[in-house]
Amino acid sequence: MDKKPFVTLEQIKEIVKKYPTPFHIYDEKGIRENARLLKKAFSWNKGFKEFFAVKATPNPYILQILKEEGAGVDCSSLTELMMSDKVGFKGKEIMFSSNVTPKEDFALAAKLGAIINFDDLTHIDYYKEIAPFQETMCCRYNPGGDFTLNNEIMDTPKDAKYGMTKEQIKIAYKKLKEYGVKHFGIHAFLASNTVGTGYYPKLAEILFKLAVEIQQEVGIHFAFINLSGGVGVQYRPDKEGNDIIAIGEGVRQAYEKILVPAGMDDVAIYTELGRFMLAPYGALIAKVIHKKHIWKEYVGLDACAANLMRPAMYGAYHHITVLGKENEPLTYKCDVTGGLCENNDKFAVDRMLPQVEIGDYVNIHDAGAHGFAMGYNYNGKLRSAELLLKEDGSVQLIRRAETPEDYFATLDFTPFEKDKK
Ligand SMILES: *Cc1c(COP(=O)(O)O)cnc(C)c1O
Repeated sequence: MDKKPFVTLEQIKEIVKKYPTPFHIYDEKGIRENARLLKKAFSWNKGFKEFFAVKATPNPYILQILKEEGAGVDCSSLTELMMSDKVGFKGKEIMFSSNVTPKEDFALAAKLGAIINFDDLTHIDYYKEIAPFQETMCCRYNPGGDFTLNNEIMDTPKDAKYGMTKEQIKIAYKKLKEYGVKHFGIHAFLASNTVGTGYYPKLAEILFKLAVEIQQEVGIHFAFINLSGGVGVQYRPDKEGNDIIAIGEGVRQAYEKILVPAGMDDVAIYTELGRFMLAPYGALIAKVIHKKHIWKEYVGLDACAANLMRPAMYGAYHHITVLGKENEPLTYKCDVTGGLCENNDKFAVDRMLPQVEIGDYVNIHDAGAHGFAMGYNYNGKLRSAELLLKEDGSVQLIRRAETPEDYFATLDFTPFEKDKK
């Protein structure tokens, strides 16, 4: 099993005539097909809706594609709200799942009519001073402890800054009810980048049981349960990815088991997936500009961790294909690096590749989510362009590359210009 790039060397050679490397490129066809599969997996639920986590790939053209596929957006900051508004997402198509929320963010979310998801009990009275309560509002839950699946610790909610304890969330719903809120949602995000069919069904079970308990104790109506993000993708080439149909079926079984007997068969299931929606359908394309032979072998790219931070930040694996050499034997062991003055600026360590030459183009896979988005300007590196490979095979520039002028835009050099004369 190997990962197959969605672009060929021939395509890239054409594209670089107009848009030089490095750049991120997204595959419209893959994005659409996957979005449809997710919808199919949850088609048993009448109110199902995906709210794409904007932070994963904050580009209006990508948001537009997902909008056409029926998705809403999940925002957590002022500018994410602004972008979503510009693309035309309206009211309840926007979920606002923020934390440590500034006033102006709540104000804009309320103005847009977004569904506000409170991260903390204290946020309710903080919000009260800013905007009126809406008909439908949501609270975020943190069960504490460890989150285990088949006796394996998946994550540790007790160490996570998000959400409210059970005691607090009950008070929150009571308060919101007193303030006139009519319909409620509940939300939790307990493990990141899970692979396997267990995560969503287990989370669903936890949230469904809690919703039944709160509905009975507080006497409120749950309109939706938001399973948030966390369904991951397989970054490695030799292992299976997620079966979203099986995941949807697992959630359905929990729904039938817990919500339906409690008379809560009108509850909509929401998701806030980012990585699952986009990661496999984006690649970082870079060119080999140097080779170096010291204590180890190094392949130096024109891209660096400022274009894709995950390997440097998390030691994350991203598969690399040398375009045009897909069928050559992997006989060359090397580190694939960028040019930051930071030794963790490595896309791969001790990776087996075909014999790489200067001028080769590499495809760094699964960079479509939390890729460009986590980019930064360290060492004065400029953000790359983003391109869209459309369904008809044409390529559209959906974000131009930064220029030095962009990098300097927030500085005023006029005092220094005087001295020069
Ligand atoms: C980051 C985030 C998501 C998306 O997470 P993925 O792992 O990319 O699916 C969804 N909801 C919230 C609140 C988030 O912070």
